[in-house]
Amino acid sequence: MMHPPDRPSRLGAGGDNAIAFAIGVAADEWTLLILRHAMQDGVRRPERWRELLPIPEAVLTSRLRRMSELGILDPVEYDRDPPRCEYHLTPRGAALWPVLVTIWAWEVRWAGGHPEHLPRMRHLTCGNLFDPLMACRECGDVVTPREVTGAFGPSGSWPRSAPNTTMRRRSSGSANLGPGFFPESRALIGNRWSAAMLGAAYLGAHRFSEFQRRLGAPATVIADRLRAFRALGVLEAFGDADRADRHDYRLTDKGRAFFPVVMSAIEWGQRWFLAPEGPAVVFRHRASDHPFSVLLLCSACSRPLSGKQMSVV
Ligand SMILES: [Zn+2]
Ligand SMILES: [Zn+2]
Repeated sequence: MMHPPDRPSRLGAGGDNAIAFAIGVAADEWTLLILRHAMQDGVRRPERWRELLPIPEAVLTSRLRRMSELGILDPVEYDRDPPRCEYHLTPRGAALWPVLVTIWAWEVRWAGGHPEHLPRMRHLTCGNLFDPLMACRECGDVVTPREVTGAFGPSGSWPRSAPNTTMRRRSSGSANLGPGFFPESRALIGNRWSAAMLGAAYLGAHRFSEFQRRLGAPATVIADRLRAFRALGVLEAFGDADRADRHDYRLTDKGRAFFPVVMSAIEWGQRWFLAPEGPAVVFRHRASDHPFSVLLLCSACSRPLSGKQMSVV
């Protein structure tokens, strides 16, 4: 299915929902890096991306094709003999800046083991280095995960929210996984069940049995993900050391700090991919009891961020 670049797609009934599309994009490192250079440097031609990124040609070709199918890039032929395409960033693609900015900030702040140090971001409006702060668009208050409630809407369920056709599964080989710029983000949301597990933690699951009941996944999968999340330092376990089923799992500061990434990605998904049944998930600002949507603020000057008003230094 081709997705239009400037208006929302109408999804089929019963299939992947907005969350699945959002996670599929946000968990793919090459897609984010291609977007970074499209947004920041105005890159449109494949040969320029290949100069800037250590990406094999076949991988770039498959990503550009998939991003065009998703309506994130618009292929425009600029030469006929031989035929050559430029890929223009569309309104749908440009709207992904909050996902890129929140992942970038989280990796800089929390993740180790980068092949090269990620540069910080500068807010051009105030001139300062910044982190994005997540606030409520309705009232402007800065929020933590605990202050936002989420409930599945009519197209929401864990199976429909887990991407079945992520980009990285389209071909095999380690180069296809990505260059390791955002290694911990990929570890957090790159696996079919990881994003759902993290979502369940944000929605208040603490016990093994709660994760299992909410996701309906096999116990071995739940145990494996809980182990991986503890190793990454996003969940901590309290309680009887010998009885994993009795543990009380709590998000760490590092785990909570990833919340704006998930929220920004879901918001983009729900803006651009509409299921006929209705939304996948509905968020509310708990204290004020109004609908919640994401507003990103500059940590230095507290003004709202926009995709065009930042640079990477
Ligand atoms: Zn609010
Ligand atoms: Zn600022």
